[in-house]
Amino acid sequence: MSTSSSASKTASLRLASLSAQLDASARDPVSSALSSSLLPVQLSRDALSEQLDGKDQKWRHWTFDQLKHSVFHFKYNITKEESVRLNQERWRHAAQLGIYPSWNDSSPDTDKYTAIQDALTYYDNGFLTMSGAHFGLYYGAIRELGSEELKNTWLPLADTFEVPGCFALTELGHGSNARGIETEAYWDAQKGCYILNTPNTTAQKYWIGGAAETAIMSIVWAQLYIPNPTNKDQWQHQGIHAFLVPLRDRATLQILPGITIRNCGYKSGINAMDNGRIWFDQVQVPRTMCLDKYGGVNQDGVYESMFDNKDQRFGGMLVNLSDGRVALALSSANQAKVALTIAIRYGQSRRQFGARKLGEQETLIMDYSLHQRRLYPMLATTYARHFAARALRNLKFSKGSDMKKIKQFHVISSGLKSINTWHLLDTLQATREACGGQGLKSSNRIGHMKADCDVMATYEGKSCNYVALGRWGSGATRKKKEKRALYNFLRRKD
Ligand SMILES: Cc1cc2nc3c(=O)[nH]c(=O)nc-3n(C[C@H](O)[C@H](O)[C@H](O)COP(=O)(O)OP(=O)(O)OC[C@H]3O[C@@H](n4cnc5c(N)ncnc54)[C@H](O)[C@@H]3O)c2cc1C
Repeated sequence: MSTSSSASKTASLRLASLSAQLDASARDPVSSALSSSLLPVQLSRDALSEQLDGKDQKWRHWTFDQLKHSVFHFKYNITKEESVRLNQERWRHAAQLGIYPSWNDSSPDTDKYTAIQDALTYYDNGFLTMSGAHFGLYYGAIRELGSEELKNTWLPLADTFEVPGCFALTELGHGSNARGIETEAYWDAQKGCYILNTPNTTAQKYWIGGAAETAIMSIVWAQLYIPNPTNKDQWQHQGIHAFLVPLRDRATLQILPGITIRNCGYKSGINAMDNGRIWFDQVQVPRTMCLDKYGGVNQDGVYESMFDNKDQRFGGMLVNLSDGRVALALSSANQAKVALTIAIRYGQSRRQFGARKLGEQETLIMDYSLHQRRLYPMLATTYARHFAARALRNLKFSKGSDMKKIKQFHVISSGLKSINTWHLLDTLQATREACGGQGLKSSNRIGHMKADCDVMATYEGKSCNYVALGRWGSGATRKKKEKRALYNFLRRKD
């Protein structure tokens, strides 16, 4: 026998074996035994929906209706400038709809706003990231750490998105290790204000969401130095503090003197978010613009704080801003549902192999157990993630102002945010592949979702549980307790 005919025989044997395997997997004995022995399940769509998303779904449906507006229609493969403009337009429109409680609403309808925000997480991650930067971090910092005067002045303008804001913590030199940031704020006793300065290249603020084009205001985090009362030539380091700093003129949108801003450029995803770099050159910040709930210079020009330890002080400030992780844990589960819906529906219509002769109907890819085993465990895990994220949200509402509960919530939310975002990224890859080439097509969304959601593993605390856990607290015993709290939370049955 010639070499070529032996090769072709081997190839056809391999093909026959592959075809037999595919055929066998289509008629998986376990699946067929199960399907023949089980009684048909009577599943009420309404009951299931109620279990998943609550009894009263008025606001959920209201939100989905709002998302039908033309401003929300998906537009892919446009420039980052167009993408940012569209995102701004979407937010100006969305803010008018009243999707967040107003700043002075002392008893907001929690069920209403929870339902609206949950429904929004099924939408686009660029849109959600803008919300996270403005309504989550910028707004949250003023609300949680600012004086009554700052709240009364700036929150009404933030509510309507009339004055958008950003949150500038990360620097070129320091991301995960936020305690290492180098931006400086000096208290100038003579002028009665803080002087904000970027001392070197690594201290430039980097990746700041909304800074490149959108934000008028910023929360800027800096190391605070106060003149030593007993020796005016020395400075006392008081650790990291947050300042509310205008970046642009509200009328002209021109960048203000002493401030330099550059765009971080094209990213591999969420180009709807304009991430920027910021430098400060001896910028004067009025005393009242320090978010001084945990520490700042008082009216008499004296520094005061409820914490002696500056790390605890900074920890206390950040711990109040953990809510973004709940949003990411929830939106990871919901976006995984979107991708799985697309892939499973496609699997119910796409046919490959299984015809005995040309022209005969082929088998639905969703009927192959190989395909089922790829997607169904992910679907089941997604719903486990769904319930865990909802339990976390309930924990958020019940923590109140008890510092012990707040810290525990911080650790649990860091862990669940990590687990859920990792699951989302795995799901997006699997669903993209499950749709074959169609998974790459822009209008089929999954490819874009993959690019846009990738960053969820990085911002709001990188997806590395133990690094996240280690970032808070210092005692080994306490860390053990917190890890145990996360473990117990994940094992809860409710
Ligand atoms: C699109 C986008 C938007 C953002 N928006 C904002 C914003 O609005 N405001 C803001 O302040 N920041 C923002 N960030 C910054 C974000 O929070 C940081 O990127 C994040 O904290 C990670 O920091 P880094 O990029 O410097 O990575 P690094 O900290 O340098 O980490 C690099 C790698 O090292 C690993 N690593 C770090 N430390 C350890 C350790 N101790 N042990 C083991 N591994 C470790 C990390 O897990 C990671 O894999 C944004 C980032 C992006 C990409």
